[in-house]
Amino acid sequence: MNVASEKANLSVKQVSHFINGQLVIPSSNRFKDVFNPATGDKTAAVALATVEEVDRAVQAANAAFPSWSEMAPLKRARILFKFKELLNKHHDELAMLITREHGKVFTDAQGEVIRGIEVVEFACGIPNLLKTDFTDQIGGGIDNWNLRQPLGVVAGITPFNFPVMVPMWMFPVALACGNTFILKPSERDPSASLRLAELLKEAGLPDGVFNVVNGDKVAVDALIEHPEVSAISFVGSTPIAEYIHTEASKRGKRVQALGGAKNHLVVMPDADLDQAVDALIGAAYGSAGERCMAISVAVAVGNTGDKLIEKLIPRVKSLVIKNGENLDAEMGPLVTAEHKAKVASYIDSGEAEGAKLIVDGRAHPVAAENGFFIGGTLFDDVQADMKIYREEIFGPVLAVVRVPDFASAVELINAHEFGNGVALYTSDGGVARAFTRQIKVGMVGVNVPIPVPMAWHSFGGWKRSLFGDHHAYGEEGIRFYTRYKSVMQRWPDSIGKGAEFTMPVAK
Ligand code: NAD
Repeated sequence: MNVASEKANLSVKQVSHFINGQLVIPSSNRFKDVFNPATGDKTAAVALATVEEVDRAVQAANAAFPSWSEMAPLKRARILFKFKELLNKHHDELAMLITREHGKVFTDAQGEVIRGIEVVEFACGIPNLLKTDFTDQIGGGIDNWNLRQPLGVVAGITPFNFPVMVPMWMFPVALACGNTFILKPSERDPSASLRLAELLKEAGLPDGVFNVVNGDKVAVDALIEHPEVSAISFVGSTPIAEYIHTEASKRGKRVQALGGAKNHLVVMPDADLDQAVDALIGAAYGSAGERCMAISVAVAVGNTGDKLIEKLIPRVKSLVIKNGENLDAEMGPLVTAEHKAKVASYIDSGEAEGAKLIVDGRAHPVAAENGFFIGGTLFDDVQADMKIYREEIFGPVLAVVRVPDFASAVELINAHEFGNGVALYTSDGGVARAFTRQIKVGMVGVNVPIPVPMAWHSFGGWKRSLFGDHHAYGEEGIRFYTRYKSVMQRWPDSIGKGAEFTMPVAK
């Protein structure tokens, strides 16, 4: 693995930055430990970039911008096409990097890489995506058309839970549009980003077009404050999303900041209950609940509550929880010991607030291992004012809320501060139609538990799940990473004589 340079005096690998086409030796002594969550072992130390290192990356990206942005979109697409081939070739290597630092099971990590590749495939269509509108002869020998031009140096700040996919929601589209890019990945699982940088270089991407700075708040603030950075894409928790949106907007930057979630799955009395239970098990406990589209609340409508709980209990108890490198693992550990303690404290709080704890993940034998494991947890009779209902837990904890009817389910969900994803299980098309129209959530699934839009649609939540105007990737991504320009043109022989003092209208 060539993702990090070894220093003779350190027993663990050092993960550094990728600036101007190469891995660099970090200039500061600030490092953060990286763990294999399945064993609890420290496996690396990631360098935390200084303001000067961030500046070097921005200078490199700025220097690369003129020629990259002038390159024909078709040629940029060819480099991305080569990158896609390399991603296919290194698919399993990338998935294993994810599993060893994030903890999600290998098969899930493989799926994450595929969802990232799909955005590259979308971005390969950039010559067509940048095609714009042209109106011939608006009057008086004048034509009107528009251009979409790149912004310049743009930055992406990404969370730990999708170390390959979420960066690839951003940079393939940004680069295809002609921007140069600085990625600041999560310090908890930083290695995959450097591997992506190496593969981009191997694909023929010119030096400086894509850079990675590892780090923490210091690096993030340096990107926000840097005058040469035109736009920031952020994905992470809501408090940080709000902070980044405010601070970047204040400095006149374009910003999209995707935040946290609390996703509900509504089970109507006419739903196929076995299908709904399968959906809940996969969507609540897959990736140990560390997905922004994970289902963390099951809304049992009418008389479905008892039957749902009865069917869920044996499934939660029999989850195969182990090191995700095992191909039969269904759920791996949480990302860090701190995060495990946080999830456990939410279970404490649910119990203390009077929710019915049906399956307790803290008591699962796997929770005693050295890795950061916790068992699947199930609560019943959860109320809307409880902390475990209001806040994002980001762990394998499913809360069942019982409501009398469809209208109460919609009311409950619409009152929640988050609006990322939602799902409805029903066999009634009329109810499904009413739900999709009434629900105040950005991504809706009808008999689909995790409705993550495909690469050519766009991803984003409503309410406090997204700050900014644009959703990620797809057409919205193209709009975010380009500036719109309208051009009107005529030539001297069609220009009428004399000044005009009235508002120009078509003649
Ligand atoms: P996080 O907010 O802790 O970190 C995200 C990024 O922000 C990281 O790169 C981190 O280094 C940086 N950061 C952390 N603290 C900072 C600070 N004080 N100032 C500036 N930057 C800071 O999020 P996380 O724990 O890595 O990821 C999980 C969160 O991300 C969950 O809330 C999840 O819902 C959310 N998420 C949302 C989406 C979405 O599309 N809406 C997708 C994935 C994850």
